[in-house]
Amino acid sequence: MDSSQTAGRAGRYAPSPTGDLHIGNLRTALLAWLFARSTSRRFLMRMEDLDDRVQPESADRQLTDLESLGLDWDGEVIYQSDRRDRYNAVVEELASAGYTFECYCSRREIHAAASAPHAAPGAYPGTCRDLTASQREEKLRSGRSPAVRLRSRVAEYTVDDALHGQFTGVVDDFVLRRGDGTPAYNLAVVVDDSASGIDQVVRGDDLLTSAPRQSYLASLLGLPIPHYAHVPLVLGPHRKRLAKRDGAITMSELHMSPHALVGLLGRSLNLTDRDRATPADLLESFSLERLQRHPWVFHPRKR
Ligand code: GLU
Repeated sequence: MDSSQTAGRAGRYAPSPTGDLHIGNLRTALLAWLFARSTSRRFLMRMEDLDDRVQPESADRQLTDLESLGLDWDGEVIYQSDRRDRYNAVVEELASAGYTFECYCSRREIHAAASAPHAAPGAYPGTCRDLTASQREEKLRSGRSPAVRLRSRVAEYTVDDALHGQFTGVVDDFVLRRGDGTPAYNLAVVVDDSASGIDQVVRGDDLLTSAPRQSYLASLLGLPIPHYAHVPLVLGPHRKRLAKRDGAITMSELHMSPHALVGLLGRSLNLTDRDRATPADLLESFSLERLQRHPWVFHPRKR
C-alpha cells in the first residue's frame, strides 16, 4: 500500500464486485463519500473480491459508474485478493494466542444445531469448539478441510454508531478462514480497515449486526475501533431490500444522466430539492442532522 492509503484519517467504500452496483449501492457510496469529505478525511476504495460470487470485469464496471457519478477517491484501489498473505498472517497470530479453533461442521449441521431451542439466533452453536484429540482425528478422517473460527470470549459486544447510537449485538465463534482457505469477510474488513488508516466506516445498515463482531476482533488484535455510520437501505416497491430482480436499477438501466441521478439520490436523502446535482453540491448541504434516516422506497418501473 502506498503512503496516501495509510496516512491520516480515512473513510471508504468497499463494494463486492459481484455484479453492477444498483441504486442502493450507489446511494451508500455517495453517503460514504459525503461522510468522509465533510470531515476532511481521505476516501479510499476497496474491492472485496474474495467471494466466490465475484464476476470478472464487475470491479471495473463498478469503478466506472462511481467515477461517472462524480465520486473520487485517494490512492490506488485496494483489492482484497492481493492481500491473502496478510489475512493468513493474522489468523496465525490469533491461533498462537489461543483465539482460534478448527471447525469441521457443514452449513447444514450448523443450521440444524443453531435452530435448536436456547441457541442464540444465528450464532454458531459451539459444536467444534472443544473437540478432543480423538474427535478431531475422526473428523479429519472424514476428509473435510476445516474452517478456522474465532474462539470468542464474549457473547456480545457494543458499538457506537452515528445513526443507531449504542448497538449491542451477538459475537459468536465466527469464521476467520473458510474450509477452502478463503479469508472470511469479518476478518478481511478488520485487517484492511486498520491497515489503511480507516477510522470511519459508512455502509448499509444490513451490516450493523456485523459491527460488534468486527469491533471485538479489532480489540483482540489491539487495533483501533472505527467510527461507524450504518445508513438506511433502499427498499424495492414491496418494502423489501432492493434486489436485482426488481429490474431497471443499475446505472445503465436507469437511463439517467449522472447529475439527474445524484439529484434524485440527494432528494431521497433530504440534502437538496434540485433535480440535478453533483456530489460537491450535496457536500455543501450535508449534515448528519439533516440526513433522511428512514429507508427510501424506490419504484423502478414507474420511472
Ligand atoms: N463488501 C460489502 C458489501 O458490498 C461491504 C463491506 C463493508 O462495507 O464492510 O456489502
